Amino acid sequence: MSQEINSFEIVKGLIHTCVKKLNLSKSVYDILSEPQRVVTVTIPVQMDDGSVRVFTGYRAQHNNALGPYKGGIRFHQDVNLDEVKALSAWMTLKCAVINVPFGGGKGGVIVNYKELSSAELERLSRAYIRAIAPVLGDEMDIPAPDVGTNGQVMSWMMDEFSRYRNYNEFGVITGKPVIVGGSLGRVEATSRGCVFAIREAAKVTGLKLQGATVAVQGFGNVGSIAARLLHEDGCRILAVSDSSGGAYNPKGLDIPALEEYKAQTGSVKGFPGSQDISNDDLLTINCDILVPAALENQITEKNAGRIKAKIVAEGANGPTTPEADRILAEKKVLVLPDVLANAGGVTVSYFEWVQNLYGYYWTGEEVNQRLERKMVEAFHNVYDLYKKRKDVDMRGAAYMLAIERITEAMRVRGWLGSQVYSEAKREIMLA
Ligand code: NAD
Repeated sequence: MSQEINSFEIVKGLIHTCVKKLNLSKSVYDILSEPQRVVTVTIPVQMDDGSVRVFTGYRAQHNNALGPYKGGIRFHQDVNLDEVKALSAWMTLKCAVINVPFGGGKGGVIVNYKELSSAELERLSRAYIRAIAPVLGDEMDIPAPDVGTNGQVMSWMMDEFSRYRNYNEFGVITGKPVIVGGSLGRVEATSRGCVFAIREAAKVTGLKLQGATVAVQGFGNVGSIAARLLHEDGCRILAVSDSSGGAYNPKGLDIPALEEYKAQTGSVKGFPGSQDISNDDLLTINCDILVPAALENQITEKNAGRIKAKIVAEGANGPTTPEADRILAEKKVLVLPDVLANAGGVTVSYFEWVQNLYGYYWTGEEVNQRLERKMVEAFHNVYDLYKKRKDVDMRGAAYMLAIERITEAMRVRGWLGSQVYSEAKREIMLA
C-alpha cells in the first residue's frame, strides 16, 4: 500500500493548501516544498563473512528557520528519498506545533536490520553517521531514533561522531541511553505524549477513558508503550499488531504479559488467549480509540469508511492519506494528527538536548510534567484553531499553526524579502 502513495507529494499538497488559506506569499510555499539540503551517501560495510555490502543512506534537512534540524533515523528496507523528505517536512511542522526551537530533518538507510548481526549493525550505524558527519552537530542537525533504530544504535552513532570531533558531543544525538547523556522518560516520551493528547481529546469529546476500547497498529517503541500506558489508564486494549500479524481479545489483552510474550517470541501473533487478526480488521474493529503506530499510508480511502473509532491518534508519521482524512471528517472522527499526537518524542528529545548542553539532568518526574504541559498546550492551541476556523480539520489546524510560526521566523530572518531589512534600516537611521 505504502509503495503506491507518495508521502512527500501528500505533505506538499497539505502545505500548499494551508499557505493559500493563510494568504501567505508563494515564497513560503516554495521554501517549504523542498528540503534545504539533501545528502545521499553510499556506505560500504564489511559483513561478518568478510564480504562487503554497499548500503544507501539519506539525510534530508528540511528547514532550520526555528532552530537546528531535528529528526530520527530510519533503518528499513522500504526507505526511499521521497519518504525521508516527507518525514523531514513533518519534523519541521511538528517542532513548530509543539513549540520547541528546532527545525526538521530526517535520515534513513535502506536495510532490513533484522538480517544483520549485532556487529554488522554496529558497523553500519557507525559508517552511516561518519558519512553524514559533515552536516551534523549539536547546533546544526541532531538525529534521534525512528523505525528500526534504538538507544543502542544512537549510542554507537554518538560515540562515532565524538571520535570524529575528538571530544564527547552528547548533544549531537538524542534518544541515547541514560548512562551516556540520555534523558529519563525519553523511551516512553512519544507514547506518553500521545496518551496526553488522547486524554485531552477524550475530555473535549466527552469520552470516558476508564473502560474505553482501543486498537493499536504496530507494537514497537511507540505502539507497545502507548498500549501499556492506556492499559494503565483503565482502557481495554482489544487488538494490537506488528509486521508478523495481530492479536485480538474482545475482553481486552493483558498488555504487560503480551510485552513479555513479544520479547520472547519476536511477535504478538499467537499470544495465548487471543485470536489472530489481520491488519485491515484491526483498523476497522469496533473500538473507541485507534492508534496507528506502524508506518505511513495505512488508513486510506479503501478502509476509512469502515473505521469505527471516535478518536484516531496518530502515533505513526503519515498513517492517514488525504482521501481518508476527508472520509473520517465526514464521519466526525476526531483525528489527532501525527505532528501533534506523536510530538512527545521530539519534545523530550529537546529536553535531552537542553540537559546535554547544560550538563545538568532532571528527574523523570520533571521530564514528564514538562512534557504534559507542552502536549496539553499544543493540543488546545490546535483544537481551538480547528473550532474557530471551521474550514479545516485538526491536521489543517496544526499545519496552519506551524506554518504561521515558521513563516514569522523566516520573515524576521529576512528570508522572505527586504521589508524587515528596510524597516530595521529606517529605525537605525531614525535613531
Ligand atoms: P519500531 O521499529 O519500534 O516499531 C514499528 C512497529 O510497527 C513494529 O512493531 C513493526 O513490527 C510494526 N509494523 C511494521 N509494519 C507493519 C505493518 N504493515 N502492520 C503492522 N505493524 C507493522 O518503530 P517506532 O519507533 O515505534 O515508530 C513507529 C512509528 O512512529 C513510525 O511512523 C515513526 O516514524 C513514528 N514515530 C516514532 C517516534 C519515536 O520516538 N520512536 C517518534 C515520533 C514518531
